[in-house]
Amino acid sequence: MSRVYNFSAGPAVLPEEVLKEAADEMMDYRGCGMSVMEMSHRSKVYDEIIKTAEADLRSLLSIPDDYEVMFLQGGASQQFAMIPMNLMKNKVADYIVTGQWAKKAYQEAQIYGKANKIASSEDKTFSYIPDCSDLPISPDADYVYICENNTIYGTKFKTLPNTKGKELVSDVSSCFLSEPVDITKYGVMYGGVQKNIGPAGVVIVIMKKSLITEDVLPGTPTMLKYKTHADAQSLYNTPPAYGIYICGKVFKWIQKMGGLEAMKKHNEEKAKILYDFLDESSLFKGTVVPKDRSLMNVPFITGNEELDAKFVKESKAAGLENLKGHRSVGGMRASIYNAMPIEGVKALVEFMKKFETENK
Ligand SMILES: *Cc1c(COP(=O)(O)O)cnc(C)c1O
Repeated sequence: MSRVYNFSAGPAVLPEEVLKEAADEMMDYRGCGMSVMEMSHRSKVYDEIIKTAEADLRSLLSIPDDYEVMFLQGGASQQFAMIPMNLMKNKVADYIVTGQWAKKAYQEAQIYGKANKIASSEDKTFSYIPDCSDLPISPDADYVYICENNTIYGTKFKTLPNTKGKELVSDVSSCFLSEPVDITKYGVMYGGVQKNIGPAGVVIVIMKKSLITEDVLPGTPTMLKYKTHADAQSLYNTPPAYGIYICGKVFKWIQKMGGLEAMKKHNEEKAKILYDFLDESSLFKGTVVPKDRSLMNVPFITGNEELDAKFVKESKAAGLENLKGHRSVGGMRASIYNAMPIEGVKALVEFMKKFETENK
């Protein structure tokens, strides 16, 4: 067996310990004589799996009792519609557009009501986070929406916007569980798990219980009402059962690593190695304003497209995979999520140094 350092933006690297444990339990989950993939989601064994996953997530993030935790399907993109369908009581919402994912959410919301773009960083290819301390929040806005970590462009909100009392809705897909957060500042925090937590197919929604009501837009399908899933504790229909099981293992792994404070330290340490190198390199340069740099996704360029392509090709041959930037921006991007070991980042920087020497 040989594993590469996988810098994919998502689906992405998972902790080896988790993969090994899942492999050990594949044929016979703890004496059940079957795989978790094969068991009824209504069984006692599975109930224990999903309840434990929720309890561990609640403890990692210190989620208070007045917040619901839901394990849903449809990816983060499904939430782009579910959020306005369920929360746009006044049919007005304010969006801060800091990248492709926020833009998609903003466009989707326009189907359901008046979505206002109250700030954007599109003027400089989303390379920074706009000042959100005093935005023109609409008096009747049902919520203010952000994408907290911009996976494609590598920016991160270091301070949350001043929503002037409106509920904050945040897409945290690519920074989920990467550092401690104060859940009580959010009305809704959600993320697809395939970036930092588990296999594609699960999206976790953490939502203030008071926001979950029957009062949704007319025509909202049963499956797209938060109330349906909250009332059934994520077991209204068959959930993405195996995916939730892996998420549960990742929560245990984070606990074992020391929780979110330890994750933050580990992530800062890794990111510093890469950003320090980018800041001193004569060939490579980071594309993001330093104060808004993400700890998770690090885009960089040489300034020469041919050289970028050569770098991607040669790095792959050296066992450093998926460093090609998003198709919409080009260049390179290293995603260094929780499960990326520090050795992976060091190997990348060593390779970059060598490439720099060879291509000057
Ligand atoms: C990947 C990603 C999405 C899209 O996720 P899907 O599960 O493919 O729908 C949305 N938002 C952010 C921030 C992402 O990184």
